[in-house]
Amino acid sequence: MQSATLPTTAPKQVLYRKKRYLVYFLAAVVLLGFPFITIDGTHIFLLSFDHGELHLLGTRFNMQELYLMPFLLILLFVGIFFITTLAGRLWCGWACPQTIFRVIYRDLLQTTIFGLRKKISNKQQPLRLESFADKLKATLAFVIIAFLCLTAAANLMWFFVPPEDFFAYIANPSEHPVLMVFWLGFGIFFIFDIAFIQENFCVYICPYCRVQSVLYDNDTLMPTYNYNRGGFVYDKHGIKIDKKLKFIDPNAECIECEQCVKVCPTHIDIRKGMQLECINCLECVDACTGVMGKLHKPSLVTWTSPTAMEQNQKVRYFRFRTIAYIVVLSIVFVALLVVSTKKEGMLLNINNTSELYKIRTHEVVDNTFRVVFHNTDSIDHEFSIEILNPSVDSDIASKLEIIKPKDPFVVKSGQKRTEMVTIRARENLSKNDRNDSIYPIILRSFALDNKEQIFAKRRTNFTYPSQETIQTYFQKREERNR
Ligand code: SF4
Ligand code: SF4
Repeated sequence: MQSATLPTTAPKQVLYRKKRYLVYFLAAVVLLGFPFITIDGTHIFLLSFDHGELHLLGTRFNMQELYLMPFLLILLFVGIFFITTLAGRLWCGWACPQTIFRVIYRDLLQTTIFGLRKKISNKQQPLRLESFADKLKATLAFVIIAFLCLTAAANLMWFFVPPEDFFAYIANPSEHPVLMVFWLGFGIFFIFDIAFIQENFCVYICPYCRVQSVLYDNDTLMPTYNYNRGGFVYDKHGIKIDKKLKFIDPNAECIECEQCVKVCPTHIDIRKGMQLECINCLECVDACTGVMGKLHKPSLVTWTSPTAMEQNQKVRYFRFRTIAYIVVLSIVFVALLVVSTKKEGMLLNINNTSELYKIRTHEVVDNTFRVVFHNTDSIDHEFSIEILNPSVDSDIASKLEIIKPKDPFVVKSGQKRTEMVTIRARENLSKNDRNDSIYPIILRSFALDNKEQIFAKRRTNFTYPSQETIQTYFQKREERNR
């Protein structure tokens, strides 16, 4: 064990609590504000099952365009793996709503405002409910946190049902039972979680807690007790040594004040080493920083990696695993950007009607298609449609004409419009006396005000009947007319 010389000046104290509170505040402002921000009527992030749309960074995607989803999911999962490998449960301590709301309820409301606990530096003490006034305060604290939990549940809903719809829907709850069930269901669960399940959620329920041990390595940033300086409080089997440290090792710097244990919201002792229950709140780091600071020594519990602590060096952020994650994330992010720029401003679905063709004269034949025009852009457009050749050696487009619809038509932003599109062949296109002739064509629909960017092309076939079919058709018609 290393012996430490006593410094003459107090080491610089790095307290994380205030920084975490600032991050909590900023996270709350961002999460509450985001759903209200729109760019040309499109949200920053919205996955609306109601409208069948995904809004991402001000771009609107239809559900039929959810080719973006795999990229987003890969980014999400690889991002979680990366952050966890790099900095452990950073999310849990610094941004998870569970942790933020527990701090608001336990530390702010119950302890600081209503004085139902003595101090936030001891989270092991039960709530003091001795008098009627205490019970009244506890009830008030519960009512406040319940209101905040319902607001948080609404905030979650706003990423799926935009606020402008949400408030209109909850004004008529009987017409929107699914939304009410989800909102109140999440809200009530959240209240129960914050008030009664508490940190047991992080320890026993949260799936993230289970995967972290697989993702950690010895260079991962985590709250770490320096047993080289502080001394071994637990044996190699994790059992607490039944003797005061000073009797085992006189050089051990840990004074066994247990401040790091008392402050821990998940009731663990960080001196035992990293445990699944640790949510990276760094309260133990702050506690020991305070204790050791009074002795003019650096904290025995620091936010560092086991290797950095062992070798008394800086944390190795860039290593094979983290670099590999950065490479994968960069590739997926670039792919997402490329794919999202190829977004069509409209969607086009083409279906043949039940009648393959309509014979008008011995040469003139019509094909009618049921075409759904979907304006996925954020503004209304007037659309038209044209026929293109499917390949450079084809000139079929010059022999066909769209006779319906004749005029352009408006499709409102985000809306669909179904049109029966009739294409006419004005000359005989039959290639075979006995079989119908099939000509591949391309239908291209476009917005008149932005022809180059808002368009969609779809391949389909124009069918021209055989000579035999045409003759039989007219023979039967003549027989009927006789
Ligand atoms: S050991 Fe406890 S106090 Fe320390 S970071 Fe983990 S959860 Fe927080
Ligand atoms: S706060 Fe520091 S000195 Fe006190 S018991 Fe924990 S590690 Fe030891």
